Amino acid sequence: MDDDFKRKLDNAFGEGDMELVAEMLGWDEDEDDYEEEFDSTIASYDNHTRGGSSLKMECPHCGERGEFKVQKTLKSFYHWSPEKVAYFEDIAGRDISFRKRIKKCTFCGETFQTIEMANEFLIAMMKDIQTKESLISKLSDENMKLKNIINDSLKVLNQIGSNS
Ligand SMILES: [Zn+2]
Repeated sequence: MDDDFKRKLDNAFGEGDMELVAEMLGWDEDEDDYEEEFDSTIASYDNHTRGGSSLKMECPHCGERGEFKVQKTLKSFYHWSPEKVAYFEDIAGRDISFRKRIKKCTFCGETFQTIEMANEFLIAMMKDIQTKESLISKLSDENMKLKNIINDSLKVLNQIGSNS
């Protein structure tokens, strides 16, 4: 493997770009073992790059913590949707790219999905939520002021009505 090829392959793995990895390694996408092959390769890649320890996380079903094994990497989830490209370009400067996986809890045996993505997307989404929260609170303040104005106006109209 020459350096340039290795660097490109590393990038493809890092991005979770299964199509590119398959193309570079000459895998046939139509083969049944295609996804399995990708999972085992990416698992060893992750182990290699993280020094052998995988992510310790809490099972959303039973709450136990552990290094749960990946059962499957879902290959069709690298982008949210065509409609949301503009949204992510707006908040994070580029379209989101993430890796969705199914993990199995070793304590309760239930499976759950995890997402791996660049931190910048989470930060951008949290900032966007904050902006929208403060907009909502501003709008509800204005709404309250308008309601008060309407109520005051109705009181005046009622007084006028009862005086005539
Ligand atoms: Zn569990």
